[in-house]
Amino acid sequence: MPARPRSPRTIAPAARASALLVWFAQHRRPLPWRRRPTPYRTWIAEVLLQQTRVAQAAPYFERFVGEFPTVRALADAPLERVLKVWQGAGYYARARNLSAAARLLARERNGELPSTVAGLEELPGVGPYIARAIAAIAFGVPTVALEANGLRVGARWIRASGDVRRGPVRRRIEAALATALGTNPPGPFNEAVMELGETICRPVAPQCERCPVAFGCRAYLELDDPGSVPIARRAPRRPRVRAAVVALADRRGRWFVQRRPPRGLLGGLWEFPGGKIRPGETAAHAAARELFEETGVRSAALEYVGRIRHAYSHFSVDLHLYRASARARPAAAPDRRWVTAAGLRRLALPKATEKALALLERRDRASRDSGSRRGRTGV
Ligand code: SF4
Repeated sequence: MPARPRSPRTIAPAARASALLVWFAQHRRPLPWRRRPTPYRTWIAEVLLQQTRVAQAAPYFERFVGEFPTVRALADAPLERVLKVWQGAGYYARARNLSAAARLLARERNGELPSTVAGLEELPGVGPYIARAIAAIAFGVPTVALEANGLRVGARWIRASGDVRRGPVRRRIEAALATALGTNPPGPFNEAVMELGETICRPVAPQCERCPVAFGCRAYLELDDPGSVPIARRAPRRPRVRAAVVALADRRGRWFVQRRPPRGLLGGLWEFPGGKIRPGETAAHAAARELFEETGVRSAALEYVGRIRHAYSHFSVDLHLYRASARARPAAAPDRRWVTAAGLRRLALPKATEKALALLERRDRASRDSGSRRGRTGV
């Protein structure tokens, strides 16, 4: 790293913005939402990027706008289809809100997004950050959209101390960025700040020697370790959930699945019957209990298929998978179905259910290949 000049406070904010915009014009990544930008595409991208990293968001974005290229196409699609196309991106409330907002826009605004921060904030699922990002990027509204990257970059520019998510510190950072924005084009400025945070001003070990605004960054100029700003918050431990599920098959080899309630965790997705293993309970007992509670089926023989692990954003799950044959069939209903494996794949599924289905199919293949009979575990 080159020797640093130590006269940081004389840097004009406009100089930072100019240097940043020149750098962005030369280095902006060709991300899919930057091609053929429209307010709709910006909206979808910002919703995805709120909880998903850029590299992961790109294929989901392509798939989503490929399937629903306009507000009207999204508004016309059944929610079930929207959830299916969103599958794997996580935080399914985002997909439900996109669907609800598209219907509202189609009904009340001829499919057009509002161009103001206040108007955008009235849409389901659009909070202050997304509203400002869309307003700045799609409509040129002079505002600062402050997400994690912007907070980190701004905190380093002004060498903010304290928790950047708290009001006073956050307001100082926002004011510093707004001053730097000045009369510059709001879309490129906001995107440039985010891009700098994602590619150079990383949370750990920022690459200051490559940074276009190092000359105006107090953390760089005044500290041995610019990455020590902002103060890192310890990530909360992700709780681990133990659960048991049962793939219940009828004589035709179809699986019984049910849809989760429309709101809340994994809302509206389809899964096998099952639930949490209670303290002191075995996985097999929990599987039998959950099967009976949710379907009314008492199965004398549950076959253990295997364990699946999956980490969701807020918790990880250890899923013990069993299979059983249904003699008395639970009745189908709008939220309960009998489906083939192919039919199950067409439904919107949580990742753990996708893994469960893959495991069932692997076991079946192995069983066919070896010609062996499956053992049974009584409960
Ligand atoms: S100089 Fe370093 S710490 Fe400052 S904005 Fe650039 S990359 Fe971030």
